[in-house]
Amino acid sequence: MPTTLSERLSRELEGLRESGLLISPKVLETPNRAHTRIDGRDVLNLASNNYLGFADHPALKERAEAYLREWGAGAGAVRGIAGTLRIHEDFEQQLAEFKHTGSALVLHSGFTTNQGVLGALLQPDDLVISDELNHASIIDGLRLTKATKKIFKHADIADLERVLQENDSDGLKLVVTDGVFSMDGDIAPLDKIVEVARRYGAVTYVDDAHGSGVLGADGRGTVHHFGFEHADDVIQVGTLSKAWGGVGGYAAGHADLRQLLINRARPYLFSTAQPPAVVGALSAALEEVQRDPSLMERLWDNTRYFKAGIEALGFDHMGSQTPITPVVFGEAPAAFEASRRLLERGIFATGIGFPTVPLGKARIRNIVTAEHTRDDLDRALEAYSAVGKELGVI
Ligand code: PMP
Repeated sequence: MPTTLSERLSRELEGLRESGLLISPKVLETPNRAHTRIDGRDVLNLASNNYLGFADHPALKERAEAYLREWGAGAGAVRGIAGTLRIHEDFEQQLAEFKHTGSALVLHSGFTTNQGVLGALLQPDDLVISDELNHASIIDGLRLTKATKKIFKHADIADLERVLQENDSDGLKLVVTDGVFSMDGDIAPLDKIVEVARRYGAVTYVDDAHGSGVLGADGRGTVHHFGFEHADDVIQVGTLSKAWGGVGGYAAGHADLRQLLINRARPYLFSTAQPPAVVGALSAALEEVQRDPSLMERLWDNTRYFKAGIEALGFDHMGSQTPITPVVFGEAPAAFEASRRLLERGIFATGIGFPTVPLGKARIRNIVTAEHTRDDLDRALEAYSAVGKELGVI
C-alpha cells in the first residue's frame, strides 16, 4: 500500500515536533518596524532584516502607491514573453548605476536569483567552489547545475587555494561566497578571495543579501566596500527584500550578464515579474538611502553600541562585524528558552539552533536597525543581562 498523504503529513510533523524543530512563526500585528505587537503586547523587534527601516517608510509607500495607480496591480505576465513594463527596465538601469556595474537584472527574490543565475551560468564542465556556510539558496542553486562542486572551509583562504590547486577545469571556474554571512554576521574577506580566485583564472560570485544597504558607500554593498564594483570577473547577486524594504533579487556585474540571464535564467523565462508597487518602493529606496545619509549612520552607530553592550555583558557574539549580532547560548533548548524569556520582557528576537548553526553554538540572532533608539537598545541589553544570568550563560 502506498503511503497516504495523511500518514506522510502526520509522521513528518510529529518528527519535527519531537526534535524540537517545528516552526510556528510569531504573528506581527503591525507593519514590520522596530516596535511591533505580538499577542496584543507591544514588543521591541530585534528579529527583522529591516536594516534601514524601509519596510514601512513613507517615501517608499508613497512611490509604491503612485506606481500602483499608474501601472496597475500586477505585471500581467512573464517579461520575456509578453513584454516588459518600462518601470522594470528603468529600475534595472537605476540599480546598475547605483551599483556601478555594467548591467543588472531583477528577479523575484534573492532565493530565486541564486537558482536562476547559477542555473543559467554553469555548464557541466565548470568547477564551482563554495564556502561551507553559504546560504541555502546557493546550495539549492548549485544542485540545479551539473558543474563539479567543491566546498572550502568558511572564509579560509588557504583552504580555498588548496581546492583551486587540487581541481582544474577548462570550463568556467566560480568561487561562491556570501558577502555577509547571515548567521554569524562576519564579512567575507573578499579582497583575498578575489586575489586567489584571479590567480587561478576563477570568477568570484558574491551573494550580498545582508551587505546590500549595509556596507559600502550609500549601502552599495560588500563588493563596493572592497572596491570591486567595476570588475568584470566579480558577479554580485542579492536581495531587495531586506534593507531595500520590498521583495526581489538582483544580479549585477559584467555588461553582458543581464542579456545572458534574460535568455537563460529560468525564473526570468517562466515566472511573472514583480508588481509595479514593489518596483516603485524599491526605486524610492535607492534614492532615499542617498538623500538621507543619517539612515546608514544610525544603523552603524546602533550596531557598534549594541555589540559593545553585548560584549560588556560577557556574551559571545561570534566576532560579528555587521548589524547581525548573534548572542550564543550553547545548545538549542537554551537559546529557545532565552528567546521565550526575552519575549516575556518585551524583546522579540529569534532563537536559532542546529542544523541552521553548529551544535553548541545555538544562539539568538539580533538585527540592529536604523530605527532603533538608544533607549530601545538599552532596554534590550537590560533584558539580555537578566536572561543571561537566569540561564547561567554570563
Ligand atoms: N541569500 C542570503 C545570503 C540570504 O540571507 C537570503 C535571505 N534569507 C537570501 C539569499 C534570500 O533572499 P530573499 O529573502 O529575497 O529570497
